[in-house]
Amino acid sequence: MSTTSTASASLRAAIDEQLLKTVGVSAQDATQTDLMKAVAQVARAQLSQRWVETQAHDRSSQARRVYYLSMEFLIGRTMSNALAALGITDAAAKGVSEHAHTLEEVCDREPDAALGNGGLGRLAACFLDSMATLDLPSFGYGIRYEYGMFAQDIVRGTQVEYPDPWLADGTPWEFPRADISFPVRFGGWVEHLGERAVWRHSAEVAAKAYDMVIPGHATDKVSTLRLWKAVAPAHLDLAAFNTGDYGRAAQVKNEFENISWVLYPNDSTPAGRELRLRQEYFFVAASVQDILQRHILEHGTLANLHEKVAMHLNDTHPAIAVAELMRVLCDEHSMPWAQAWEICKNTFSYTNHTLMPEALETWPVALMQHVLPRHLEIIFRINAEFLEMAAKFRPGDNGFLARLSLIDEAGERRVRMANLSIVGSHKVNGVSALHSDLLVETIFADFAALWPDRFTNMTNGVTPRRWLSQANPGLASLLDETIGSEWRIKLDKLKLLESKVDDAAFRDAFKAVKRSNKARLAAHIERSTGIKVSPDSLFDVQVKRIHEYKRQLLNVLHVITRYQDILANPNADWVPRVTIFAGKAASSYVAAKSIIRLIHDVGSVINNDPRIGDKLKLVFIPNYGVSVAEIIMPGADLSEQISTAGTEASGTGNMKLALNGALTIGTDDGANIEIRQNVGDDNIFIFGLRTPEVLALKRGGYQPMRHYEGNRSLKAVLDAISGGQFSPEEPGRYRPLVDALLWGGDHYMLLADYESYVATQAKVDSLYRQSDEWAKRAIINVANMGVFSSDRTIAQYAKEIWGIPTKA
Ligand SMILES: *Cc1c(COP(=O)(O)O)cnc(C)c1O
Repeated sequence: MSTTSTASASLRAAIDEQLLKTVGVSAQDATQTDLMKAVAQVARAQLSQRWVETQAHDRSSQARRVYYLSMEFLIGRTMSNALAALGITDAAAKGVSEHAHTLEEVCDREPDAALGNGGLGRLAACFLDSMATLDLPSFGYGIRYEYGMFAQDIVRGTQVEYPDPWLADGTPWEFPRADISFPVRFGGWVEHLGERAVWRHSAEVAAKAYDMVIPGHATDKVSTLRLWKAVAPAHLDLAAFNTGDYGRAAQVKNEFENISWVLYPNDSTPAGRELRLRQEYFFVAASVQDILQRHILEHGTLANLHEKVAMHLNDTHPAIAVAELMRVLCDEHSMPWAQAWEICKNTFSYTNHTLMPEALETWPVALMQHVLPRHLEIIFRINAEFLEMAAKFRPGDNGFLARLSLIDEAGERRVRMANLSIVGSHKVNGVSALHSDLLVETIFADFAALWPDRFTNMTNGVTPRRWLSQANPGLASLLDETIGSEWRIKLDKLKLLESKVDDAAFRDAFKAVKRSNKARLAAHIERSTGIKVSPDSLFDVQVKRIHEYKRQLLNVLHVITRYQDILANPNADWVPRVTIFAGKAASSYVAAKSIIRLIHDVGSVINNDPRIGDKLKLVFIPNYGVSVAEIIMPGADLSEQISTAGTEASGTGNMKLALNGALTIGTDDGANIEIRQNVGDDNIFIFGLRTPEVLALKRGGYQPMRHYEGNRSLKAVLDAISGGQFSPEEPGRYRPLVDALLWGGDHYMLLADYESYVATQAKVDSLYRQSDEWAKRAIINVANMGVFSSDRTIAQYAKEIWGIPTKA
């Protein structure tokens, strides 16, 4: 027998053994879910081996490590990725085929780990994959939410949210570390004994560690995602139990354990108030204890902490770590304040993810006093010393100091978590070139004046393992045949495709891959919505959180324009098009939910209009998440990235779609700009106002009504919506949406960009008619996406921020 067939025979045996031993079924009776669990157990054992070896290696080499602190990790499924990393995909496929199932069906049985809302959480997951693949000594730290991102159902066109009990049947991918638990304290008051501060807390909860092992690719190294679960301290409820008051005992237990129950389904604004603050502190406090314990074990002192430890703040959610590290160093280890502050600044770094001032996180001073009284004192002291220094920089400029202050004194006093993060870090980065430039020109201009070298850019990336190799096996094998397989870990190799653009046979193969991915997507659309679409149509895709700044509504305006134009010119040569949306709206976000409903209402009119047929379809795929994205991205022809210029920090959906051969129609925003620079102006459709024009218009008095009065098709579209053409049973349903554009100032300037957008969509049609020209441009897009690998991003963070060498 060859080595591979030996391997697959032994894997087959291992699967059958796990079916019996762990799952508890006979091989003959195994369902797809049973097989999923058994295959996972086989992979788990191999990962466990790699984990032990990696930990031993990093410990003995006394490596500097990076700790990536994030409230969110939007992981999705683990199975396919783990099998690929272990190099046992084919053997596993053979193994399950013995049971008359396909590996794909078996993998589909795994629930998504949706411990994140959107881009920020998915970025953290791509980063873990790259950290492991680059052999970077690293841990991710977060919360083991019992309930992840809500599941979205659509009932009569409206979003309905269901809880996501992803752990209900257990997950084979976590390793509970029963012996790793730290106390986390809250409330109470602070006693000052001379120089010493003692925090007399009023409540305590235990943080228990659960590890997810993150396999690297083309390496035996693995990384760790350590997630914390809140558990009531054992001593707490005994009294109630002993008196037989089980109800009371359970209630007390819940008051503590609710900290890790649920992910806040909110993209950008702080919500849930106190519980959310408790969550932030909970995972930070546990992580800092774990990190310091490991450091002391390996190095015996905290004096060199910053030399061996880099802690990264993914947005401001973990920013309280700055005060927590100061508290632990000074109060618990008696380190002098000045020394602790030096260590602190050199340990932390911070990524900002938004330019919108209203999305910057702040906490009322009163709430912070109530939940974390000692931390508030520390923040005040950091602030006092910081402002004293800043006052020397610009003497007498009180406005400058007020803007820099960690405390917002206007109205109810609030702690500004972004300011705390900047002051406590040695590096602060934005996530695309434009975003990083705008940060230092706008919201952080005062800090940049003070510390120009602190600010830098790290353009986001996505992992090619999940977003190309796993999501698009058809394109992956065409690439393997054409340019070899190294692109998986050296995405720059895609550049080799450029020489194939004029090769007709290659283009045909490339088109055939796209066609079959579109057929797969069409099948998913029919399964999830009941709507039949033709894979011969242009698949026009906008998938992302539903948010006004992302302008799904502008896309709908175009769809209605097209609908009206088709009715007016039924015999023109229309390019058949399917406009596809997917995305969740935050549960309290009324306008976003109204946009979802509008999409459905417009869809049911268009899709059921016999005059339209296949010329135009509008579909909304429910329950967008990582696994749904893996089906959508490879089947897209056109990628809609149409945020108002200056609002999307980077975007990563734009990268995934282009990597899978979609052409982008987009504004000059976020990473779209860098995609344009890499693929070339002729291979992307850029339209609309640029950031300086947006800002100038805002200042000069933007008048949306002028566009309405001046553009007949725009007027017809808005009149149709507000007049109830798509909601005859309730004609006023969309008046608020239209009024916000016409009378409410059209904050995101949809009307200003409408004409340019519609004209650019016409250019899309003409190119799509020339299928060879379209394919060439799609290939050029794929060829130039190498720079958008998260491996490049992480290598850059490691070198320029964390000070850790990597092999990349
Ligand atoms: C990539 C991704 C996002 C981010 O999409 P953007 O278009 O960059 O906003 C959100 N959710 C999921 C599930 C993703 O995979």
